[in-house]
This record gives sequence, structure tokens and C-alpha cells, in this order.
Amino acid sequence: MLKIQKYVRAESLEEAYQELIKNRNNQIIGGMLWLKMEDRVIPSAIDLSKCQLDSIEENENEFKIGAMCTFYQLETHEALNQMCQGMIAKSVRDIVGVQFKNMATIGGSIYSRFGFSDILTALLCLDCDVVCYKKGQIALKEYIHEPYEKDILTHVIIHKRKMKAAFECVRRSSTDFSVLNAAGALIDHQLRICVGARPHKAEMIEIEEQCDLQDILKQVHEAMPCESNMRASKEYREHLRDVLVEKVVNELKGEKA
Ligand SMILES: Cc1cc2nc3c(=O)[nH]c(=O)nc-3n(C[C@H](O)[C@H](O)[C@H](O)COP(=O)(O)OP(=O)(O)OC[C@H]3O[C@@H](n4cnc5c(N)ncnc54)[C@H](O)[C@@H]3O)c2cc1C
Repeated sequence: MLKIQKYVRAESLEEAYQELIKNRNNQIIGGMLWLKMEDRVIPSAIDLSKCQLDSIEENENEFKIGAMCTFYQLETHEALNQMCQGMIAKSVRDIVGVQFKNMATIGGSIYSRFGFSDILTALLCLDCDVVCYKKGQIALKEYIHEPYEKDILTHVIIHKRKMKAAFECVRRSSTDFSVLNAAGALIDHQLRICVGARPHKAEMIEIEEQCDLQDILKQVHEAMPCESNMRASKEYREHLRDVLVEKVVNELKGEKA
């Protein structure tokens, strides 16, 4: 059972950060959907809801998404989804249900970098940065390999690019975790392909647009191996990986699956 000894609703990011580093077990809280399932004691749980991190700001170059924005805000943001042909909306659409998506935060999800994450797979193939209070701004493709440091993820920035994008996943039932997920984007004649829930977390590779499917699959095999866990075997995942990557590539190249 989760036990919280002190609840702090920080007035500023500096206050939140100072509280966070007081004890290595102190935690920032997002939607608390994951945290509430843990069996641990949190000396100080730090709520960011007064820190103005709950909106998606748009300017001519980027979308700046506050860490407390929910999956439902991402799913229903018109301009963001117009840029990527609804790929972000599709990546969160089947996650549990609307009430859940009104609580799950992008900050909690990207900070956690879960292997099964659908939104991580989707964002990784876009031109995307993460902003942390102490560490500053870093490309998402680098952030996924960083250690879990005591820091506050404040924003996710999606740079505006002309693109085609696609997302596919397979779940054994509608509200279950993805057995495997795949996303792709075609930006400046470069294909970016991501595969997640292998069950390892998503990785991204960049490939020249003119590569044929066999070359793409060969590179995907090398860079994104699959493993077994309780949800699926290695062999089944390898099969799904090839099928989903082919579907994504066909969508990006405008060919019929
Ligand atoms: C039953 C269930 C089913 C799910 N199914 C799916 C699914 O199908 N696909 C999918 O992609 N995801 C799924 N998830 C994961 C979910 O979508 C969220 O990613 C997850 O709950 C974390 O988001 P949260 O806002 O609840 O974070 P919390 O639980 O509040 O926090 C998670 C971790 O992140 C840290 N944290 C939170 N915010 C910040 C921040 N701003 N800066 C630094 N650290 C922070 C916390 O300290 C904690 O360690 C599921 C989760 C549950 C519980």
C-alpha cells in the first residue's frame, strides 16, 4: 500500500525542487495513477498543480506542453493532431478510458519512460524535446537513455515540422497494455521508425526515405530486438513488429497495406 507522510502543494517550481531533493524518497506526483499502485512510503509527495503546467501553448515554431497536461488534452488538441494526422490522438485513444485519460499526465508518463508506453513511442519519432527544471532542455531521443535523476520534468516541446505520421499497436483486449506498438514519421525525406513494448522501451531509428521495406525491416531487427514476458512471447512480438512496421511504412508512403 502507498503511504504519503506529507503532501506539499508547491507554489513554484523552485519550492517543488527544494522539497524534492530534501529526501531521496520524496516524489513529484502527476496523475498518481501509477504511483498509487506502489507499495512504498513517500515522505513528501509534491503536487505541481499550482505551477501552471497544465496547458498546451502554441507558437509558430512549436507546441509547448506542460507536464500536468493530460492524455485527454493531447487527444483532443486539434492543431497538434492536424500536424501529425491524428497520430498522437491515436496513440492514447485506447488507453483505459476517458476518466483515466483525464488524469494521466504527460509529465508522469515521459519521466517514467515505461517500456509499455504508447505515448513515448509516438513522441519519439517526432522532433521532440523534454525540459527539466535543473537539467534544462534535451532531445527526447537522448532523454530516454538518461538515468532517473531527481528533477522535475516541466514541459515537452514538439517542434513544428511538415510531416506524415502513423501509429499502430496491438492489445489483447481494449484496455490492456500494448503487446507491441510502432510509430513512424516521414520528415524531410527521412523515415523515423519507433517500436516500443518489445517489452523494452521504445527506440527510434532514422532511415532514408527511398529504402525499401526489406531494408527497413532488416534495420528494425538489428536495432529493436524483442523479448518474452507474461504478455507475449519473443517470437509473437517479432512477428507483430514486422507487421506493424510494414503497416506504418505503408501509411507513411501512401501505399495500401
Ligand atoms: C491500469 C493502468 C493501465 C495503463 N495502461 C497504459 C497503456 O495502455 N498505455 C500507456 O502508454 N500507459 C498506460 N498506463 C500508464 C499511464 O498512462 C501513465 O503513464 C502513468 O499512470 C503515469 O502517469 P501519471 O500522471 O499517473 O504519473 P504518476 O503515477 O503520478 O507518477 C509516475 C512517476 O513519475 C514521476 N513524476 C510524475 N510527474 C513528474 C514530473 N513532472 N517530473 C518528474 N517526475 C514526475 C512520479 O514521481 C512517479 O515516479 C497505464 C497505467 C495504469 C495504472
